[in-house]
Amino acid sequence: MKRIQKKKCRHCRRLFVPDPRNRDRQSYCSRSPCRKASKAASQKRWLNKPENKGYFKGPEHVKRVREWRKINPGYWKWSKPRIALQDLLMTQPPVIIGLISNFIGSLLQDDIANTLFAMQQSGQDILCLQSQDEGGKSDCQKSVTSRR
Ligand SMILES: [Zn+2]
Repeated sequence: MKRIQKKKCRHCRRLFVPDPRNRDRQSYCSRSPCRKASKAASQKRWLNKPENKGYFKGPEHVKRVREWRKINPGYWKWSKPRIALQDLLMTQPPVIIGLISNFIGSLLQDDIANTLFAMQQSGQDILCLQSQDEGGKSDCQKSVTSRR
C-alpha cells in the first residue's frame, strides 16, 4: 500500500489530500476560496502564455471558430429553436459562460449556447444515473424520455 501523500494548498497553506487521479496537477485544496483561487490562477497562466495572447481576437479567432465548427458538426444538429438557446444562455451565471467560451475557444453566443445545451443534457444524464443508483425518486425521467 502506498502512503497517501498530502500536499500543501497554495492558497490557504493547509495540508490536504489530493485526488489520486489528479495528484500532480492539484495544488489547491477543495475549500471554495481555494478552488476559486485555483481557477483564477490557471486562467491567468493560460492567458499569459504567448500563444494564447489575443486568442479571442482578430482573423485567427474567426478562423479557429470556423475550424471548430467543421470538426464539431454534431453541435449544429441540435436544431433547438434559437430563442430557447438564447434563453438558456441568459440564465447562466457569467462564470459558466466564460468557462464554456474558454473551453470551446469561441466568443460566439450561438457556439456557447449550443455547447451549453449539450452540456446541460449530459449533466442531466449524470444526475439521473446518480439518483437512480441511490434509489431516490428521479424527476429526470421526464427530460430523458422527452428527448427521445
Ligand atoms: Zn486551501
